[in-house]
Amino acid sequence: MNDAFVGILDRLIGFDTVSARSNLSLIHWIGDYLKQHGATVEIVPAPDGQPKANLWATIGPKKDGGIVLSGHTDVVPVEGQPWTSDPFKLIETDKRFIGRGTSDMKGFIALCLALVPDMAAKPLQTPLHFAFSYDEELGCLGAPHLLKAIGEKLPQPRIAIIGEPTGMKLGVRHKGVYSFETHVTGKDGHSSQPERGLNAILLAAEVMGEMARIYRGIQENGPFDRSFDPPHCSFNIGNVDGGTAVNIIARECRFLWDFRAIPGGHPDQILVPLRAFIEKRLGELRQSQPLADIVITPRVSAPPLVEEHESAAEALLKHLTGANDTVSLPYATEAGQFQQAGMSAIVCGPGHIAQAHQPDEFIDKEQLAAGDAFLRRLIDWARVN
Ligand SMILES: [Zn+2]
Repeated sequence: MNDAFVGILDRLIGFDTVSARSNLSLIHWIGDYLKQHGATVEIVPAPDGQPKANLWATIGPKKDGGIVLSGHTDVVPVEGQPWTSDPFKLIETDKRFIGRGTSDMKGFIALCLALVPDMAAKPLQTPLHFAFSYDEELGCLGAPHLLKAIGEKLPQPRIAIIGEPTGMKLGVRHKGVYSFETHVTGKDGHSSQPERGLNAILLAAEVMGEMARIYRGIQENGPFDRSFDPPHCSFNIGNVDGGTAVNIIARECRFLWDFRAIPGGHPDQILVPLRAFIEKRLGELRQSQPLADIVITPRVSAPPLVEEHESAAEALLKHLTGANDTVSLPYATEAGQFQQAGMSAIVCGPGHIAQAHQPDEFIDKEQLAAGDAFLRRLIDWARVN
Protein backbone atom coordinates (compact mmCIF):
# COMPACT_ATOMS: atom_id res chain seq x y z
CA MET A 1 0.00 0.00 0.00
CA ASN A 2 1.37 3.42 -0.91
CA ASP A 3 2.35 6.10 1.60
CA ALA A 4 -0.55 8.41 0.74
CA PHE A 5 -3.08 5.69 1.57
CA VAL A 6 -1.34 4.70 4.81
CA GLY A 7 -1.13 8.35 5.89
CA ILE A 8 -4.87 8.86 5.27
CA LEU A 9 -5.88 5.63 7.03
CA ASP A 10 -3.68 6.58 9.97
CA ARG A 11 -5.47 9.93 10.25
CA LEU A 12 -8.96 8.39 9.93
CA ILE A 13 -8.32 5.73 12.57
CA GLY A 14 -6.95 8.45 14.88
CA PHE A 15 -10.32 10.20 15.04
CA ASP A 16 -12.39 8.55 17.77
CA THR A 17 -15.69 8.44 15.90
CA VAL A 18 -17.54 5.95 18.08
CA SER A 19 -21.21 6.58 17.26
CA ALA A 20 -21.93 8.13 20.67
CA ARG A 21 -19.41 10.91 19.94
CA SER A 22 -19.05 13.68 17.37
CA ASN A 23 -17.66 12.90 13.92
CA LEU A 24 -17.15 16.57 13.00
CA SER A 25 -13.33 16.63 13.33
CA LEU A 26 -13.08 13.74 10.90
CA ILE A 27 -15.66 15.22 8.53
CA HIS A 28 -13.87 18.59 8.39
CA TRP A 29 -10.51 16.91 7.90
CA ILE A 30 -11.91 14.93 4.94
CA GLY A 31 -13.69 18.04 3.61
CA ASP A 32 -10.45 20.08 3.64
CA TYR A 33 -8.53 17.28 1.97
CA LEU A 34 -11.15 16.93 -0.78
CA LYS A 35 -11.32 20.68 -1.43
CA GLN A 36 -7.53 20.82 -1.75
CA HIS A 37 -7.87 18.31 -4.57
CA GLY A 38 -10.59 20.21 -6.39
CA ALA A 39 -13.68 18.26 -5.26
CA THR A 40 -16.95 20.03 -4.58
CA VAL A 41 -17.85 19.39 -0.95
CA GLU A 42 -21.17 19.70 0.81
CA ILE A 43 -21.33 19.11 4.55
CA VAL A 44 -24.86 18.21 5.66
CA PRO A 45 -25.18 18.69 9.43
CA ALA A 46 -27.41 16.50 11.59
CA PRO A 47 -30.79 18.26 11.67
CA ASP A 48 -31.37 17.52 15.37
CA GLY A 49 -28.47 19.67 16.62
CA GLN A 50 -26.14 16.73 17.39
CA PRO A 51 -22.46 17.56 16.66
CA LYS A 52 -22.43 15.23 13.67
CA ALA A 53 -22.60 15.57 9.90
CA ASN A 54 -22.75 13.71 6.61
CA LEU A 55 -20.35 14.65 3.87
CA TRP A 56 -21.13 14.71 0.17
CA ALA A 57 -18.49 15.34 -2.46
CA THR A 58 -18.38 15.37 -6.24
CA ILE A 59 -15.48 14.91 -8.61
CA GLY A 60 -16.28 15.45 -12.27
CA PRO A 61 -19.25 17.03 -14.04
CA LYS A 62 -22.10 18.43 -11.96
CA LYS A 63 -24.93 16.40 -13.37
CA ASP A 64 -27.29 13.52 -12.57
CA GLY A 65 -26.42 9.91 -13.33
CA GLY A 66 -23.20 9.61 -11.34
CA ILE A 67 -21.84 6.88 -9.13
CA VAL A 68 -21.74 7.20 -5.35
CA LEU A 69 -19.13 5.55 -3.18
CA SER A 70 -20.69 5.36 0.24
CA GLY A 71 -19.20 4.72 3.65
CA HIS A 72 -20.10 5.41 7.25
CA THR A 73 -17.66 7.36 9.40
CA ASP A 74 -18.80 6.07 12.80
CA VAL A 75 -17.38 2.99 14.50
CA VAL A 76 -18.62 0.70 17.27
CA PRO A 77 -17.41 1.10 20.88
CA VAL A 78 -14.26 -0.55 22.21
CA GLU A 79 -15.19 -0.68 25.89
CA GLY A 80 -15.01 -4.12 27.45
CA GLN A 81 -13.07 -5.57 24.52
CA PRO A 82 -9.61 -7.07 25.12
CA TRP A 83 -7.63 -4.90 22.67
CA THR A 84 -3.89 -5.58 22.70
CA SER A 85 -3.14 -2.08 21.36
CA ASP A 86 -4.69 1.41 21.34
CA PRO A 87 -7.77 0.96 19.08
CA PHE A 88 -7.42 4.52 17.75
CA LYS A 89 -3.80 4.18 16.70
CA LEU A 90 -3.13 2.45 13.39
CA ILE A 91 -0.76 -0.49 13.54
CA GLU A 92 0.77 -1.93 10.38
CA THR A 93 2.14 -5.46 10.13
CA ASP A 94 3.41 -7.37 7.11
CA LYS A 95 -0.02 -8.54 6.10
CA ARG A 96 -2.55 -6.22 7.69
CA PHE A 97 -3.60 -3.00 9.36
CA ILE A 98 -5.06 -3.09 12.88
CA GLY A 99 -7.30 -0.47 14.51
CA ARG A 100 -10.96 0.28 15.19
CA GLY A 101 -12.65 0.89 11.84
CA THR A 102 -9.94 -0.62 9.62
CA SER A 103 -12.44 -3.06 8.08
CA ASP A 104 -15.70 -1.34 9.09
CA MET A 105 -15.20 0.91 7.21
CA LYS A 106 -12.43 3.48 7.27
CA GLY A 107 -10.22 1.23 5.11
CA PHE A 108 -12.66 1.69 2.23
CA ILE A 109 -12.96 5.43 2.85
CA ALA A 110 -9.16 5.77 2.90
CA LEU A 111 -8.91 3.92 -0.43
CA CYS A 112 -11.44 6.35 -1.95
CA LEU A 113 -9.65 9.40 -0.60
CA ALA A 114 -6.19 8.22 -1.64
CA LEU A 115 -7.44 7.97 -5.23
CA VAL A 116 -8.89 11.49 -5.37
CA PRO A 117 -5.74 12.93 -7.02
CA ASP A 118 -6.09 10.27 -9.76
CA MET A 119 -9.82 10.98 -10.16
CA ALA A 120 -9.13 14.70 -10.51
CA ALA A 121 -6.10 14.36 -12.80
CA LYS A 122 -8.11 14.03 -16.03
CA PRO A 123 -11.75 14.83 -16.86
CA LEU A 124 -14.48 12.32 -15.98
CA GLN A 125 -17.56 11.75 -18.14
CA THR A 126 -19.55 10.25 -15.26
CA PRO A 127 -19.37 12.09 -11.94
CA LEU A 128 -18.01 10.19 -8.95
CA HIS A 129 -19.48 11.12 -5.58
CA PHE A 130 -18.66 10.30 -2.00
CA ALA A 131 -21.36 9.92 0.63
CA PHE A 132 -19.84 9.62 4.10
CA SER A 133 -22.47 9.25 6.81
CA TYR A 134 -22.78 9.19 10.60
CA ASP A 135 -24.70 6.96 13.05
CA GLU A 136 -24.82 3.94 10.74
CA GLU A 137 -23.94 1.68 13.64
CA LEU A 138 -26.97 2.98 15.55
CA GLY A 139 -29.32 1.73 12.84
CA CYS A 140 -28.51 3.73 9.68
CA LEU A 141 -29.80 6.93 11.29
CA GLY A 142 -27.57 9.48 9.50
CA ALA A 143 -27.78 8.58 5.81
CA PRO A 144 -31.50 9.47 5.38
CA HIS A 145 -30.66 13.14 6.03
CA LEU A 146 -28.07 13.06 3.27
CA LEU A 147 -30.46 11.27 0.93
CA LYS A 148 -33.04 13.97 1.61
CA ALA A 149 -30.51 16.59 0.46
CA ILE A 150 -29.89 14.52 -2.70
CA GLY A 151 -33.63 14.57 -3.37
CA GLU A 152 -33.78 18.34 -2.87
CA LYS A 153 -30.60 20.07 -4.02
CA LEU A 154 -27.80 17.64 -4.91
CA PRO A 155 -27.49 15.80 -8.25
CA GLN A 156 -29.26 12.44 -8.41
CA PRO A 157 -26.79 9.59 -8.91
CA ARG A 158 -27.68 6.43 -10.81
CA ILE A 159 -25.66 3.87 -8.87
CA ALA A 160 -24.64 3.59 -5.22
CA ILE A 161 -21.79 1.32 -4.10
CA ILE A 162 -21.79 0.79 -0.35
CA GLY A 163 -18.25 -0.22 0.60
CA GLU A 164 -19.06 -2.34 3.66
CA PRO A 165 -16.69 -5.28 4.11
CA THR A 166 -17.94 -8.09 1.84
CA GLY A 167 -14.56 -9.52 0.92
CA MET A 168 -15.18 -7.70 -2.42
CA LYS A 169 -18.14 -9.99 -3.09
CA LEU A 170 -21.27 -8.46 -4.61
CA GLY A 171 -23.97 -8.08 -1.97
CA VAL A 172 -27.28 -7.63 -3.78
CA ARG A 173 -29.73 -8.44 -1.01
CA HIS A 174 -29.89 -8.11 2.74
CA LYS A 175 -32.53 -7.99 5.43
CA GLY A 176 -33.85 -4.69 6.70
CA VAL A 177 -33.93 -3.71 10.37
CA TYR A 178 -36.75 -1.81 11.98
CA SER A 179 -36.96 -1.13 15.67
CA PHE A 180 -39.74 0.15 17.87
CA GLU A 181 -40.57 1.16 21.39
CA THR A 182 -43.92 0.09 22.78
CA HIS A 183 -45.10 2.22 25.69
CA VAL A 184 -47.94 0.82 27.81
CA THR A 185 -49.79 3.03 30.28
CA GLY A 186 -52.03 1.63 33.03
CA LYS A 187 -53.17 3.01 36.37
CA ASP A 188 -51.20 2.76 39.60
CA GLY A 189 -52.48 1.83 43.05
CA HIS A 190 -51.78 -0.39 46.06
CA SER A 191 -50.89 -3.93 45.09
CA SER A 192 -53.38 -5.26 47.64
CA GLN A 193 -56.20 -3.99 45.41
CA PRO A 194 -55.12 -4.77 41.85
CA GLU A 195 -58.69 -4.47 40.53
CA ARG A 196 -58.64 -0.72 41.28
CA GLY A 197 -55.71 -0.12 38.96
CA LEU A 198 -54.49 -1.42 35.65
CA ASN A 199 -51.17 -3.19 35.64
CA ALA A 200 -49.12 -1.94 32.70
CA ILE A 201 -46.65 -4.83 32.98
CA LEU A 202 -49.43 -7.40 32.65
CA LEU A 203 -50.93 -5.48 29.76
CA ALA A 204 -47.49 -5.32 28.11
CA ALA A 205 -47.22 -9.10 28.61
CA GLU A 206 -50.53 -9.54 26.78
CA VAL A 207 -49.21 -7.46 23.90
CA MET A 208 -45.96 -9.46 23.84
CA GLY A 209 -47.91 -12.70 23.84
CA GLU A 210 -49.89 -11.49 20.86
CA MET A 211 -46.67 -10.55 19.07
CA ALA A 212 -45.26 -14.02 19.72
CA ARG A 213 -48.48 -15.50 18.32
CA ILE A 214 -48.29 -13.35 15.17
CA TYR A 215 -44.63 -14.28 14.78
CA ARG A 216 -45.41 -18.00 14.87
CA GLY A 217 -47.60 -17.36 11.84
CA ILE A 218 -44.69 -15.70 10.04
CA GLN A 219 -42.40 -18.61 10.94
CA GLU A 220 -44.89 -21.10 9.55
CA ASN A 221 -46.30 -19.23 6.56
CA GLY A 222 -43.47 -16.93 5.47
CA PRO A 223 -42.91 -15.32 3.09
CA PHE A 224 -39.60 -17.15 2.77
CA ASP A 225 -36.24 -16.38 1.21
CA ARG A 226 -33.98 -19.41 1.54
CA SER A 227 -30.82 -17.35 1.07
CA PHE A 228 -31.22 -16.11 4.65
CA ASP A 229 -31.01 -17.81 8.04
CA PRO A 230 -33.70 -17.75 9.32
CA PRO A 231 -35.39 -17.76 5.90
CA HIS A 232 -38.23 -15.45 6.99
CA CYS A 233 -38.70 -12.11 8.73
CA SER A 234 -37.76 -12.30 12.40
CA PHE A 235 -38.76 -10.53 15.56
CA ASN A 236 -37.12 -10.06 18.96
CA ILE A 237 -37.98 -8.22 22.17
CA GLY A 238 -34.67 -6.98 23.52
CA ASN A 239 -35.46 -4.87 26.57
CA VAL A 240 -38.32 -4.45 29.05
CA ASP A 241 -38.62 -1.74 31.67
CA GLY A 242 -41.66 -1.23 33.87
CA GLY A 243 -43.08 -0.66 37.31
CA THR A 244 -41.50 0.86 40.43
CA ALA A 245 -41.94 -1.51 43.41
CA VAL A 246 -43.36 -4.93 44.22
CA ASN A 247 -46.27 -3.44 46.22
CA ILE A 248 -47.35 -0.90 43.59
CA ILE A 249 -49.54 -1.65 40.58
CA ALA A 250 -47.28 -0.79 37.65
CA ARG A 251 -48.46 2.36 35.87
CA GLU A 252 -46.01 2.16 33.00
CA CYS A 253 -44.11 -0.41 30.99
CA ARG A 254 -41.90 0.07 27.96
CA PHE A 255 -40.30 -2.52 25.77
CA LEU A 256 -37.96 -2.39 22.80
CA TRP A 257 -38.21 -4.78 19.91
CA ASP A 258 -36.95 -5.17 16.40
CA PHE A 259 -38.20 -6.70 13.21
CA ARG A 260 -35.78 -7.95 10.57
CA ALA A 261 -37.43 -8.06 7.17
CA ILE A 262 -36.37 -10.21 4.23
CA PRO A 263 -36.46 -8.37 0.87
CA GLY A 264 -40.13 -7.87 0.12
CA GLY A 265 -41.02 -8.16 3.81
CA HIS A 266 -42.20 -5.25 5.94
CA PRO A 267 -42.88 -4.68 9.65
CA ASP A 268 -46.54 -4.21 8.72
CA GLN A 269 -46.64 -8.02 8.83
CA ILE A 270 -46.57 -7.71 12.60
CA LEU A 271 -47.83 -4.13 13.03
CA VAL A 272 -51.14 -4.46 11.21
CA PRO A 273 -52.50 -7.44 13.20
CA LEU A 274 -50.93 -6.07 16.38
CA ARG A 275 -52.64 -2.69 15.99
CA ALA A 276 -55.97 -4.43 15.48
CA PHE A 277 -55.43 -6.41 18.67
CA ILE A 278 -54.42 -3.27 20.59
CA GLU A 279 -57.39 -1.26 19.36
CA LYS A 280 -59.80 -3.98 20.44
CA ARG A 281 -58.14 -4.48 23.82
CA LEU A 282 -57.99 -0.74 24.59
CA GLY A 283 -61.66 -0.43 23.67
CA GLU A 284 -62.48 -2.96 26.37
CA LEU A 285 -60.13 -1.56 29.00
CA ARG A 286 -61.03 2.09 28.61
CA GLN A 287 -64.59 1.44 29.76
CA SER A 288 -63.21 1.22 33.30
CA GLN A 289 -59.71 2.74 32.88
CA PRO A 290 -59.87 5.72 30.51
CA LEU A 291 -56.10 6.38 30.81
CA ALA A 292 -55.15 2.97 29.44
CA ASP A 293 -52.90 3.37 26.44
CA ILE A 294 -50.50 1.47 24.19
CA VAL A 295 -48.32 3.49 21.82
CA ILE A 296 -45.82 2.06 19.34
CA THR A 297 -43.06 4.47 18.29
CA PRO A 298 -40.63 3.68 15.45
CA ARG A 299 -36.92 4.15 16.25
CA VAL A 300 -34.85 2.67 13.45
CA SER A 301 -35.84 2.15 9.84
CA ALA A 302 -33.25 0.54 7.58
CA PRO A 303 -35.11 -1.16 4.74
CA PRO A 304 -33.94 -4.39 3.11
CA LEU A 305 -31.82 -4.37 -0.02
CA VAL A 306 -34.04 -5.89 -2.66
CA GLU A 307 -32.36 -7.66 -5.56
CA GLU A 308 -33.12 -5.74 -8.73
CA HIS A 309 -33.79 -7.41 -12.03
CA GLU A 310 -30.94 -6.59 -14.44
CA SER A 311 -29.56 -4.09 -11.98
CA ALA A 312 -27.29 -1.34 -13.31
CA ALA A 313 -25.13 -1.63 -10.18
CA GLU A 314 -24.75 -5.39 -10.49
CA ALA A 315 -23.88 -5.21 -14.18
CA LEU A 316 -21.26 -2.50 -13.59
CA LEU A 317 -19.64 -4.29 -10.67
CA LYS A 318 -19.55 -7.64 -12.45
CA HIS A 319 -17.83 -5.83 -15.32
CA LEU A 320 -15.32 -4.06 -13.06
CA THR A 321 -14.52 -6.88 -10.61
CA GLY A 322 -14.85 -9.93 -12.85
CA ALA A 323 -17.15 -11.50 -10.25
CA ASN A 324 -19.93 -13.73 -11.54
CA ASP A 325 -21.74 -14.49 -8.31
CA THR A 326 -23.80 -12.41 -5.95
CA VAL A 327 -24.40 -12.95 -2.25
CA SER A 328 -27.03 -12.32 0.41
CA LEU A 329 -25.65 -10.42 3.38
CA PRO A 330 -26.65 -11.43 6.91
CA TYR A 331 -26.45 -7.82 8.16
CA ALA A 332 -28.24 -4.61 7.22
CA THR A 333 -26.52 -1.67 5.53
CA GLU A 334 -27.46 1.74 4.16
CA ALA A 335 -27.90 0.15 0.71
CA GLY A 336 -31.65 -0.29 1.19
CA GLN A 337 -31.96 3.43 1.93
CA PHE A 338 -30.01 4.41 -1.20
CA GLN A 339 -32.18 2.02 -3.19
CA GLN A 340 -35.35 3.59 -1.84
CA ALA A 341 -33.91 6.99 -2.82
CA GLY A 342 -34.00 5.85 -6.45
CA MET A 343 -30.49 4.48 -6.98
CA SER A 344 -29.38 1.08 -8.13
CA ALA A 345 -27.54 -0.06 -5.00
CA ILE A 346 -25.02 -2.77 -4.22
CA VAL A 347 -22.74 -3.60 -1.29
CA CYS A 348 -19.12 -4.32 -2.14
CA GLY A 349 -16.00 -3.47 -0.22
CA PRO A 350 -12.70 -4.78 1.11
CA GLY A 351 -12.33 -6.70 4.36
CA HIS A 352 -14.53 -9.23 6.08
CA ILE A 353 -17.49 -8.72 8.37
CA ALA A 354 -16.03 -11.35 10.73
CA GLN A 355 -13.27 -8.86 11.57
CA ALA A 356 -15.66 -5.96 12.15
CA HIS A 357 -16.82 -4.99 15.66
CA GLN A 358 -14.05 -7.19 17.13
CA PRO A 359 -11.15 -6.41 19.46
CA ASP A 360 -7.99 -5.95 17.36
CA GLU A 361 -10.16 -5.28 14.29
CA PHE A 362 -8.03 -5.56 11.18
CA ILE A 363 -8.04 -5.52 7.42
CA ASP A 364 -5.72 -7.57 5.23
CA LYS A 365 -3.53 -5.73 2.72
CA GLU A 366 -4.58 -8.25 0.09
CA GLN A 367 -8.21 -7.07 0.55
CA LEU A 368 -7.18 -3.43 0.32
CA ALA A 369 -5.24 -4.16 -2.86
CA ALA A 370 -8.36 -5.75 -4.37
CA GLY A 371 -10.45 -2.73 -3.35
CA ASP A 372 -7.86 -0.35 -4.78
CA ALA A 373 -7.75 -2.22 -8.10
CA PHE A 374 -11.55 -2.12 -8.31
CA LEU A 375 -11.67 1.63 -7.66
CA ARG A 376 -8.97 2.28 -10.28
CA ARG A 377 -11.01 0.37 -12.85
CA LEU A 378 -14.06 2.40 -11.84
CA ILE A 379 -12.14 5.66 -12.44
CA ASP A 380 -11.03 4.48 -15.89
CA TRP A 381 -14.61 3.49 -16.66
CA ALA A 382 -15.93 6.89 -15.55
CA ARG A 383 -13.53 8.67 -17.91
CA VAL A 384 -15.07 7.11 -21.01
CA ASN A 385 -18.66 6.27 -20.03
ZN1 LIG B 1 -20.23 -0.93 8.72
